Amino acid sequence: MTFDILVDSGKNKSLSLSQKITIMTKYIISLLLMASTFLSVAQNIKYTLSMPKPQNHYFHVEMELSDFDAKEINVKMPIWAPGSYLAREFAKNVNLVKAFDSNGKSLVVKKTNKNTWNINKGKASKVIVKYEVYAFELSVRTSFLDLTHGFVSGSGVFMYAENYKEKSGSLEVIPYEEFNVITTALKREKEEITSDGSTTYLFDNYDQLLDCPLEIGNQEEFFFDAAGVHHKVAMYNFGNYSIERLKIDMAKVVESASNVFGQNPNKNYTFIIHNVVNAQGGLEHVNSTVLSVNRWTYEGPTYVDFLKLVAHEYFHLWNVKRIRPIELGPFDYDNENYTSMLWVMEGFTSYYEKLILLRAGFYTEKQFIGRMWNSLNYVEGSVGSRVQPVAHASFDAWIKGYRPNENSRNTTMSYYSRGSVIAMMLDAKIIKHTKGKKSLDHFMQKMYDKYYKKLNRGFSEKEFKAELTSFTGENLDGFFAKYIDGTEIPDYKDEFAPLGLDVEYAGKSLPSVGLSISDVGGKAIIKGIRSNSAGEEAGLSVNDELIGANGMRVDKKSLDDYFRSMDTGEKINILFSRDEQLYSTELVVTNYEKPSFKYSISTSKKGNYHDFWLRKMDK
Ligand SMILES: [Zn+2]
Repeated sequence: MTFDILVDSGKNKSLSLSQKITIMTKYIISLLLMASTFLSVAQNIKYTLSMPKPQNHYFHVEMELSDFDAKEINVKMPIWAPGSYLAREFAKNVNLVKAFDSNGKSLVVKKTNKNTWNINKGKASKVIVKYEVYAFELSVRTSFLDLTHGFVSGSGVFMYAENYKEKSGSLEVIPYEEFNVITTALKREKEEITSDGSTTYLFDNYDQLLDCPLEIGNQEEFFFDAAGVHHKVAMYNFGNYSIERLKIDMAKVVESASNVFGQNPNKNYTFIIHNVVNAQGGLEHVNSTVLSVNRWTYEGPTYVDFLKLVAHEYFHLWNVKRIRPIELGPFDYDNENYTSMLWVMEGFTSYYEKLILLRAGFYTEKQFIGRMWNSLNYVEGSVGSRVQPVAHASFDAWIKGYRPNENSRNTTMSYYSRGSVIAMMLDAKIIKHTKGKKSLDHFMQKMYDKYYKKLNRGFSEKEFKAELTSFTGENLDGFFAKYIDGTEIPDYKDEFAPLGLDVEYAGKSLPSVGLSISDVGGKAIIKGIRSNSAGEEAGLSVNDELIGANGMRVDKKSLDDYFRSMDTGEKINILFSRDEQLYSTELVVTNYEKPSFKYSISTSKKGNYHDFWLRKMDK
């Protein structure tokens, strides 16, 4: 709503009749809008979350809907969690959905599709929906409850009322009696804690409720300030961490990430950290993140990997949560949200996680370049990179990236790794075009200012490409066709020359059978077969058990040794078992050339912006 025209009218001494009518019309419309806003404020959504018996892993949810006019309301459970591109069908964990009016009278509830419940409310002014959610999948994008803690990833726990996602409301959390701490980025209604231990939080709309996960238990909390933002860190379970060290180092990461943009939009930010055995990475939110890390990660060489994860998820508060493709928000919680730009969201973030650590002093220049080089050689050396373009990897994340199978290595590529290498190439192009005056940082700043702060919307791929074109001074049609919508290997020698790197091709043609073999209880089992390899030609399949080679009994170790010593053209008679039947075949060793590259630091001065690339101007 805006009154701009009325304020401006003071400057215009004489207005025509038609101008006056226009102004009056706008004024009336504004009043109507105000009235409708006032009416809509009356509608209210209040959730109550309780967990009286954590050992059964059920959260109990009550959703109270007040003053909704419609005779029927649909309530829905999202099928996916934003940031994790897989239809997880959260409704599968929901049981006992019931609805009542304010007198406790049951209302008719009918399920109409996999994630929708229709409630016939008639004239009831208030509807109370009750249900329970089974929560026994501890990850950053799913929910969990046991006697040690509860973790709520909102998209699998809170339903929404169809057509009312914009409504504000409250969430009252009633913890299990032995849980004393609740950590979330949601705003508290009041600072004081009630005598029964419950706390009420407020949300502006359903998106915000989902974007603020909750950790409920007896976690250790600590705080630090950095980049003008107050940070809260909640540690579930023990680990070899030092709080004093984390406060200093996490603050450095935060400052370094904020320096990329020169601004940080949050006042408060929350880290929820699960210290577990099987680390799973992180999930980004607007003003919080959840990290799942190995509890022994905080000392030795793995500590910097923890800081890299912090940098990655923190950078997402800009890149993907605010700078985003048009398809990624507002979200459609009922369907897959397809975008071909995850190589920007995840790839650029993977590039910046490393740059942030370099700038913060956690990586040496050699380590930074080495990590980028690992990504580059991983991408170019993987068979799937020649099959699936990075734009397709993004679009099909829902059915391929998040649902890998035994053949994925032959058919898919990582938009994280390839995206990070493309980010480095684009950084080089901008640096070269501006002769060391601007970098990808300036491009990110522009995208943030224009699409988030000014327009407050996502961008189309066309808009993204147009902005890049103006920063690089190049028509990027060929670049996109070859490397983003295509699967070609870039001319790294040329692309990275402005970064002061001399690149050489280092791939060699070597004897190979193309089999990945695992030891499963003493048996040598095939877990992967490279396309067009000797193993494939011999008719071997994944899951085959390799028993003998040239008349000798074999296991994984002896096979690995055997294959390593073979020359091209050598023949091996293989005895194997498939579904408990014995077969034999002849394996003829062939050559395979895995593309790879090496680099050295250039000594040439001309057009070499090595120091600028490594952001030495920051220091
Ligand atoms: Zn990410």
